[in-house]
Amino acid sequence: MRMIPKSLALGAGIIVLLAACSSTKPQTTTRPNIVVTYSVLGSVVSDLVGDGATVTVLIPDGQDPHEFQPSARDIETINNASIVISNGLDFEEGLLEVLATAESNGVPQYRVGNNIAQRTVEGEHVVADPHLWLSPINFIQALPSLTSAINTATGLSINSATESEQLKQLDNDVSELMSTINSCVMVSGHDELGYFADHYGCTVVGAIIPGLSTTSEGTAKQLAVLKDLSVANNVKAIFTGLGTPQNVADQLANELNIKAVTLSTHYLHDAANYREFMLNLANQIVDALQ
Ligand SMILES: [Zn+2]
Repeated sequence: MRMIPKSLALGAGIIVLLAACSSTKPQTTTRPNIVVTYSVLGSVVSDLVGDGATVTVLIPDGQDPHEFQPSARDIETINNASIVISNGLDFEEGLLEVLATAESNGVPQYRVGNNIAQRTVEGEHVVADPHLWLSPINFIQALPSLTSAINTATGLSINSATESEQLKQLDNDVSELMSTINSCVMVSGHDELGYFADHYGCTVVGAIIPGLSTTSEGTAKQLAVLKDLSVANNVKAIFTGLGTPQNVADQLANELNIKAVTLSTHYLHDAANYREFMLNLANQIVDALQ
């Protein structure tokens, strides 16, 4: 159940009074302004808060969140937010400083990545994989603390039960789709499909850009190793997208005589919401691996 803003609950008398003493447009209730960094997370937050707050997504859909640099206006938006909800785990590389500054100036922040079971990758150091939205389980896990953070920052009384149910239903639907293929072995663009693979029983043998961010770069030697691994593991498709050089993906796919499929993994693209986004993704993977 969502709380009705107090000023609305007080009745029409107030509104009439305001209209009578002001020639400007009628005063409306100031709704909390929740700023969310990227579109996929924005969809989940919008579903959760409903009409209770304005949800502003900072990074335009279609831009690489790993590389996004904020404008002066974006910084102002962040500083004026009731709360800023971000992915964390260094996903929004270009926003790290701005978010930290806003936080030290008293703008409440919630980072989803700090409230999930993190997938870690061992390299020179152990680092946490930021691509948490590719498994609804992570949002289900974060939902209680996310809801509580929003309620504390905005004074709303949002209940997360409905959103939780919808995310569980989505998880079931994706599981069901994935169960229609016998084997899910893949190569990805960068190391982005780990949470998805871990949760839905897939194996990622490697990535064209062997790193957790699109800002990493692969070498010819790494690519040769990836090719051998793909043959050894009977990989049937390469799933690329954002930040992956298309010519490299196409060349590898040609050499292996398999498909290169372009996925939208980092923003909603043409999906109306998170549910559609995940189902599109799963359908594309299933179609390619039939
Ligand atoms: Zn990524």
